[in-house]
Amino acid sequence: MNAPTRVTNNLEAFWMPFTANRQFKANPRMFVSAKDMHYTTADGRSVLDGTAGLWCCNAGHSRPRIVEAIQHQAAELDYAPAFQMGHPKAFDLASRLVQLTPPGMDHVFFTNSGSEAVDTALKTALAYHRARGEGSRFRLIGRERGYHGVGFGGISVGGIVSNRKMFGTMLTGVDHIRHTHDLSRNAFSRGLPEFGAEYAEDLERVIALHDASTIAAVIIEPVAGSTGVLIPPKGYLERIRAICDKHGILLIFDEVITGFGRLGTPFAADYFGVTPDLMTVAKGITSGVIPMGAMFAKKHIYEAFMQGPEHMIEFFHGYTYSANPVACAAALGTLDVYQEEGLLTRAAELAPYWADAIHSLKGLPHVIDIRNLGLIGAVELEPIQGQPTKRAFTAFLKAYDKGLLIRTTGDIIALSPPLIISKAEIDDLVTTLGDVLKTLD
Ligand code: PMP
Repeated sequence: MNAPTRVTNNLEAFWMPFTANRQFKANPRMFVSAKDMHYTTADGRSVLDGTAGLWCCNAGHSRPRIVEAIQHQAAELDYAPAFQMGHPKAFDLASRLVQLTPPGMDHVFFTNSGSEAVDTALKTALAYHRARGEGSRFRLIGRERGYHGVGFGGISVGGIVSNRKMFGTMLTGVDHIRHTHDLSRNAFSRGLPEFGAEYAEDLERVIALHDASTIAAVIIEPVAGSTGVLIPPKGYLERIRAICDKHGILLIFDEVITGFGRLGTPFAADYFGVTPDLMTVAKGITSGVIPMGAMFAKKHIYEAFMQGPEHMIEFFHGYTYSANPVACAAALGTLDVYQEEGLLTRAAELAPYWADAIHSLKGLPHVIDIRNLGLIGAVELEPIQGQPTKRAFTAFLKAYDKGLLIRTTGDIIALSPPLIISKAEIDDLVTTLGDVLKTLD
């Protein structure tokens, strides 16, 4: 048996990420264990995981298959140098992953996080054009409200002001197109919103301004997650793809959230039938258990490096922990769980039930939008005019007290439960959230 978890009173040293530290430390919320769909708090309460941790624990928590894979690997081969050396699990994992990816996405570069996967993809795009003698393509295009992690590349192409304004100069040569979130036309849409494919034409405008010959890549979250679950309008991603093709611009899908079954297909690229040139993943690759990320590349990109000028055949990029053996074992164990339990397509079966459940919250106080796709969803609340207080954050605190974990950003409550959730647990989640919403001022 495991020793009982010690609950600490030493809160000062740890500088917590994306958290108002003083506020948290005055009233800490601690998880001490987790199993399947539930966390247990330090005061012994069970909390239903409505967000798969941070959109990552797609297989649920503490799954024995993954735990055993990690334990075994740590005892057998804990670490192998990531550069100029290999180990079999890295190659096995890469081969298994490319069987899941859309056709033609045949190569994988391993990282340790989504942020690193994004930086890797941006650098790959720039280097790819150089390898082909098109070094004039130096610009990167992101979107307003995009979230691509916290590296300088990611915050530069990202479009969330609070993540950018503290840090001065961003990468140069970056431009942004608009996001597609348009409540005036699409409020309470189920699945893909009807209106707004024409937002893709922003890309043509940016190209007209800068000239295609200066643009390397466009990076897009197929469903923008961290910024509040913004679901692309019908036809939008197809148009973005067509514009990129027309102008020789690489398309990067940031699938850190949408990858590994969130929409009911292995990747959002499958759901939309739109294949990017590069794709970034993390989170679900190991079901959140061990840090890992990856960039997938289409064959022509890999080949451009392999056959490129002599000085580019080696990609001068990588991390000490790229394809760390324990992370690879965790990912292989995770893929076993996904495949044996059909989790990569389970969201498709549950999607209608999920949609009905979360849309039943329509009409509750302050709810101005509800949206869903696969097993992801959001409830958007009316802002409190002229005040920094966010109703959604109050809802998060109240939900936690009532035994439900949700995630909030601004006035939006985001939901993305583990893909093992049962219908009864969906009912629980929605009932608790409804009870919370009824109490908001
Ligand atoms: N891209 C997207 C789309 C994400 O959602 C996230 C994390 N929420 C990241 C990148 C960054 O991933 P990480 O936190 O693992 O660096």
